[in-house]
Amino acid sequence: MSGWLPFEPDALHEGADPRLAGGRLTIDLAALAANYRLLARQAAPAAVAGVVKADAYGLGAGHVAPVLWDAGCRTFFVALPEEGIALRAILPEADIFVLNGLFGPEAAPAYGEYRLLPVLGSPTDLSCWEAFGWDDDAPRPCAIHVDTGMNRLGLTPEEAVAFAEENALTGAITPRLLMSHLACAGDPDHPLSRRQLESFQAVRQAFSGIDSSLANSSGTFLCADFAFDLVRPGIALYGGRPVNGAANPMKTVVTAEARVMQVRQAKAGER
Ligand SMILES: *Cc1c(COP(=O)(O)O)cnc(C)c1O
Repeated sequence: MSGWLPFEPDALHEGADPRLAGGRLTIDLAALAANYRLLARQAAPAAVAGVVKADAYGLGAGHVAPVLWDAGCRTFFVALPEEGIALRAILPEADIFVLNGLFGPEAAPAYGEYRLLPVLGSPTDLSCWEAFGWDDDAPRPCAIHVDTGMNRLGLTPEEAVAFAEENALTGAITPRLLMSHLACAGDPDHPLSRRQLESFQAVRQAFSGIDSSLANSSGTFLCADFAFDLVRPGIALYGGRPVNGAANPMKTVVTAEARVMQVRQAKAGER
């Protein structure tokens, strides 16, 4: 063994040493910032949040979030409270919404401690946040998620309106955002988007003075009626094509390369 050259890991690279790696994933953070700016122009005058759930779609929230912040992003969406806690350490001033809502009364204190804003999407979520008090006068800020046709998460429109009327009297919690999620916005002609818009607009009447948000990446490229106060792109930030069947206006952020192990010539019929 004594004749072997020492192997010195390359400190510039994370993960496997590039000399040993079977592949390489390159994340272009300048392209990410350019995509944020393109979405900001597209959505204006609405603001643009950054959806960084699932570790920023696998690109590394710790790398992605500060770049978005520097590009002007002040509102972030994660899926899990743990992701929110990690993001809080990086972005002390950001508004951080947790899409999956509250994980029951035992989880609520973490939202208070790390100033995470739960996206409340069920009557259980609502009563849990109402009952939670880390301080009696605390405002309990949150978002209210209403399901307008995706059938995934959220209050029914009827539940949302009933909540708004009751909460206007009690003031138990402080909605900062009313939101819903589009199911088919990638197909610009899909009739469901218009129906979701109309349902959302009807619910908004009950939430006057509260910001609204409906559009994901694809929705940001529908007509301006869908933008409201805040759009919530994820995949387009990371270079994904927002509109099916149209050219992709986003810059490429992710490049995957793999080693070609060997190239061989084989005659027809050979195994
Ligand atoms: C994931 C998610 C987004 C972002 O969606 P993209 O299609 O990636 O832009 C926006 N809003 C909600 C509620 C989400 O769950």
